[in-house]
Amino acid sequence: MAKVWRYVCEKCGRIGWYKDSEKAFLEGWDYPPHMGKYKVVSPRTCPDCDMTDTLWWKMCMEYKSAEELDEAERIVLKRILEEPESLKRDVSEMPS
Ligand SMILES: [Zn+2]
Repeated sequence: MAKVWRYVCEKCGRIGWYKDSEKAFLEGWDYPPHMGKYKVVSPRTCPDCDMTDTLWWKMCMEYKSAEELDEAERIVLKRILEEPESLKRDVSEMPS
């Protein structure tokens, strides 16, 4: 089964489906491998959002430790640590 990329903006919750990760990057999604690295915390955002309030911002700019993360932030961290598998979905799940 063919796989597609399913990106989630960690700031506004917007979801983007792409067959081509480069197209997502050109449209403004900040996701590896074009922006940052898989499994390394950096902002994962859509074209409309900046990096403030991302998990990266809270950990690197506000010095929040992993133990201090709330449930939503833990979900983002888990998704990042399990990349790229956590970003892949079957093409049949992609909305038309
Ligand atoms: Zn967003």
